[in-house]
Amino acid sequence: MICFSSIYLKSMEFTTAEPFLHKGLLQSFELTKYILKTNVYPREPSPLKELREVTAKHPGNFMSTTPDSGQLMGMLLKLINAKKTIEIGVYTGYSLLLTALSIPHDAMIIAIDPNKETYEIGLPIIQKAGVEHKINFIESQALPVLDKLLQNKDNEGSFDFAFVDADKENYLNYHERLLKLVKVGGLIVFDNTLWGGTVAQPEEAVSEDRKESRRSIIEFNNSVSIDQRIEIALTPSGDGLTICRRIR
Ligand code: SAM
Ligand code: CA
Repeated sequence: MICFSSIYLKSMEFTTAEPFLHKGLLQSFELTKYILKTNVYPREPSPLKELREVTAKHPGNFMSTTPDSGQLMGMLLKLINAKKTIEIGVYTGYSLLLTALSIPHDAMIIAIDPNKETYEIGLPIIQKAGVEHKINFIESQALPVLDKLLQNKDNEGSFDFAFVDADKENYLNYHERLLKLVKVGGLIVFDNTLWGGTVAQPEEAVSEDRKESRRSIIEFNNSVSIDQRIEIALTPSGDGLTICRRIR
């Protein structure tokens, strides 16, 4: 069992990745730091730490999956022994690398993103970690790729796990397709489902640039909350993580 002494925790400084830290849904830097410092960073695999630090220098760094959500996803992947997975929305690859590190050597990930440039920022770290062979990166919008996968009946119900972290306007479209691709008992995890807490605020209190995605997320949350094909857990990790388990 790994034991981290309080001396070790005290000496652990926030690194170049500090600007990347935001208050999150907790609305408290102190509490967010506490969770990261005590439970997440000490156990974060070194390739993920390296990727997080490289990403921190990129202007889009706020898009990266938060390390605490990553830790939860890694746990889920291992609990269900996921071998065949899909990721929609890769960016520099934090969630992709953590998935690759959490699944067995012979497992695979179809990773979809129209932006190959940002994927290539993290790629050398993925290669160095020895997990590139698990990844099939497809440079594309996700919907046509999912539709193509569904043209082959063998793909139906064949995936163990899917992670969605892309355009919020398509969350329901992704949900419908992924429910066909993921097996009964498999998981579909959606990120940003509390959208900075704005889902619980009146629309007039929300900045213009967040309104459209907020509406899509609210519609998505309402829809999955009554969807009888799944069980759900909406956790306030990161920016809100909705875990859907297909039951029929
Ligand atoms: N999961 C990533 C991580 O841990 O770093 C973060 C993903 S970032 C929030 C969103 C990504 O979705 C961007 O890289 C963007 O290019 C991608 N994206 C946007 N629209 C998309 C679409 N229609 N299909 C697939 N990916 C899309
Ligand atoms: Ca996200």
